[in-house]
Amino acid sequence: MWDGVLEVLESILRRGLRRVGCGGRRNGLCVRARVSVPKELLGQSVYIVTESEFMELRRYVASMSVLRQFFATILNSKKGSKMFNIVGETWNPITGCMHFCRYCWARQLALTKLKNTKRYRDGFKPRFNEEELKKSFKGGVVFVSDMGDIFSPGVKDEWVIRVINHIARFPDTYFLFLTKNPVRYKDFLSIMPGNAILGATIETNKDDLYTEHKISQAPLPSIRYRAMKELDWPLKFVSIEPILDFDLDVFVQWIKDIGPFMVYVGYDNYNWKLPEPPLKKTQELIKRLSEFTLVVKKTIRPAWYEGLGKYAGGAEG
Ligand code: SF4
Repeated sequence: MWDGVLEVLESILRRGLRRVGCGGRRNGLCVRARVSVPKELLGQSVYIVTESEFMELRRYVASMSVLRQFFATILNSKKGSKMFNIVGETWNPITGCMHFCRYCWARQLALTKLKNTKRYRDGFKPRFNEEELKKSFKGGVVFVSDMGDIFSPGVKDEWVIRVINHIARFPDTYFLFLTKNPVRYKDFLSIMPGNAILGATIETNKDDLYTEHKISQAPLPSIRYRAMKELDWPLKFVSIEPILDFDLDVFVQWIKDIGPFMVYVGYDNYNWKLPEPPLKKTQELIKRLSEFTLVVKKTIRPAWYEGLGKYAGGAEG
């Protein structure tokens, strides 16, 4: 069906653009519009659609096609048919991160339980794990580097290029990248294969809240938003996790501007007492986002302070 829809749109596009001109003037003012149409339309009823409306429609249809292709591949793979949770496995060719998020469970794990392992002997510094390139994949969705950020300061371009070259060898597997520094995606787009899902974590639209609560040293949410909005890639993904308080209309518009095919929404799982939004507000966000993208709900619960008083006067230091 989608191929048919795309074909209709392409045939309209081939017919070409017509400019609406002035068909008659009175007292120097245009009082009638004139538009020339191809001969084959004579006698037919037509709708008038502006160029921007048409392009928007085409964009929506194209992203629906990509989505369809994504789910067809996932559901037809052995792993995908068994799992409801979309991500089937994680793969860590690059570990470590210098963003210092205060809620980072990976850093905590690396500095405690895993501190005597080869990968974390030097702490949570970015590291390339060459041996991971021996790994092969057979379908499903693989989360790349959940024990770090692939675009953290300290991650070399050549490491990223080797990871990208490796995933290009497995076109039936989707690889989900997630970073807090999405500006760097553009440096690799020319070699990025079509099975890459390019994601960014954007926990809030409020930069001031982010700095006030010293959430992270990563680029501010507004910088990530602009990078993702400008990123020209069909499979974009946004993770709003752990969710922080936000301005509803602005945040919805941000996500709309980015145009992700999928959004994760979830509260903090580790009791960090973050400046969270109340549950009702998050539910409203999910409702609004679900109108135009696929929303995957992670941990959804009342904010930690609900019933206790507001976070601003609570345990935040
Ligand atoms: S970006 Fe991710 S890996 Fe890096 S410190 Fe933050 S939570 Fe941890």
